[in-house]
Amino acid sequence: MYNETAQNIRINLKADCSSCFGLCCTALNIVASSDFAIDKPAGTPCSNLQKDFRCKIHTDLRNKGFKGCTVFDCLGAGQKVSQGTFKGKSWQEHPEIADKMFHVFPIMEQLYEMIAFTAEALSYNLSHSLQNRLNKQLENLQDLTDMDADGLLALDIIHCRLPVNELLLETSEYIRNELSSKVFMIKKRKQYRGIDWVGKNLKGKDLRTADLRGAYLIAADLRNSDLRGVDFIGADLRDANLNGADLSTSMFLTQMQINSAKGNDKTKLPLHIQRPFHWTS
Ligand code: SF4
Repeated sequence: MYNETAQNIRINLKADCSSCFGLCCTALNIVASSDFAIDKPAGTPCSNLQKDFRCKIHTDLRNKGFKGCTVFDCLGAGQKVSQGTFKGKSWQEHPEIADKMFHVFPIMEQLYEMIAFTAEALSYNLSHSLQNRLNKQLENLQDLTDMDADGLLALDIIHCRLPVNELLLETSEYIRNELSSKVFMIKKRKQYRGIDWVGKNLKGKDLRTADLRGAYLIAADLRNSDLRGVDFIGADLRDANLNGADLSTSMFLTQMQINSAKGNDKTKLPLHIQRPFHWTS
């Protein structure tokens, strides 16, 4: 399974809040900051969460100091836990399952993130060996999401991550090599892994096929930069200015990274990323 099928899996990994019991608004521990106006301990419903699991300030989150809620994306882990693992039983009606449900949610979230990256990797044209190993890993991760709550709670998530990370690294090297040598004709790929470019002026910079894994790009000026083929896994893009930037073939970019950045209608995004509603035109 690769290319179109994998791409569809990646594109369809989306939160459906109407099928979720408000898990991101309840399960997670959130410390008050410029992104979230109040302290909210793990397992305690946010004071803005209504009985029907809807947010009472949904349309005004940014103005009310809850910018972080417009950034968060569970990729569908919330509805999987609510409707799959707990078969439609809510923590409100069944308080005896609440604690377990709140602990399962962050585990499912991590599995979904790994599935998203693995499916994206499979959407590229890779060697057969790499495709086969990614396929096995994707099936394994999908199977894990079908385990019951006790099975999920017993999972060693770090142990799950290691082989996935290795495969994603291999995929990134392979694809960026191919793009550099066969598409962009770039002689030397740039390695900026983990670089601190907080607030840096990178306007109009050609960063094609660069390794920006884990880079600190907070508030960086990336306007009109060429970011095609860049590996963004784990990069911090909060408040980075992406107006007019080309990320159309950036790798391992997440909706959360894009939601946390600034951009406009000229910013080019990969297929699986939606343009945030708060971006200016
Ligand atoms: S402010 Fe709204 S979206 Fe954010 S955690 Fe609270 S209920 Fe959820």
